[in-house]
Amino acid sequence: MIEFQGVSKWFGALKVIKNISATVDKGTTIVLCGPSGSGKSTLVRTVNRLEPIQEGTITVGGTDIHAKSVNVNTLRTGIGFVFQQFNLFPHLSVVDNVMLPLRRLRQQSRKEALPTALLMLERVGLADKANSLPADISGGQSQRVAIARSLILKPEVLILDEPTSALDPEMVGEVLKLLRQLSGEGITMMCVTHEMGFAREVADRIWFLKSGELTFDAKPELFFSSETHPDVRGFLSAIQ
Ligand code: ADP
Ligand code: MG
Repeated sequence: MIEFQGVSKWFGALKVIKNISATVDKGTTIVLCGPSGSGKSTLVRTVNRLEPIQEGTITVGGTDIHAKSVNVNTLRTGIGFVFQQFNLFPHLSVVDNVMLPLRRLRQQSRKEALPTALLMLERVGLADKANSLPADISGGQSQRVAIARSLILKPEVLILDEPTSALDPEMVGEVLKLLRQLSGEGITMMCVTHEMGFAREVADRIWFLKSGELTFDAKPELFFSSETHPDVRGFLSAIQ
């Protein structure tokens, strides 16, 4: 579904992604982890062209997404993206936030978009909050709204960059529960997270980045075993 081939990226003179080659199979969940500043956000942002790359290719469903001929809006329709800070529009109700992509990218009227948005809210367990404003719901609920919005165009790929890092501890569980559910429904997912319990349980593969290099790409059993990469062992003992 997603293939990185010799991908490198620089910010000015600083090389932040170093010759990464890796594959994400259709319907699988990849968890990305690694120290702060190792390039996790930059790497996932290259997949929907929030960041350009200087070397290599990234294909999504066979399309070279950094090719000039690719329309960014069309690309992003097929790739949902969820940020650490939910980025909801404060002046719009929950259901209006969720339907925004239908209105902007599918030119649907509010009336046309409403049933789809309400169904999506039901799916994330927030139908009763449809008319609330973002300020009146919790952080965990806000992130579930942001996830609903990212899914409304039925993307084949969902990318999440530390979706639980901005949440109070008691709200992390509800978001991970939703992600676990989505992962089981066949969407292809790349999730940057340090929630290692989630990674162990849900990831098909775990990628470990260090200074822009993909140091280790393994199944959870190996990743968490005594046979793991020494850098991973160091990282795991530092965060636990
Ligand atoms: P992570 O998400 O793993 O913490 P990032 O991808 O945010 O890492 O950052 C990787 C490296 O790129 C860091 O050295 C960071 O300082 C640098 N970086 C990130 N964004 C920019 C930017 N817009 N301009 C310059 N340097 C950046
Ligand atoms: Mg980051």
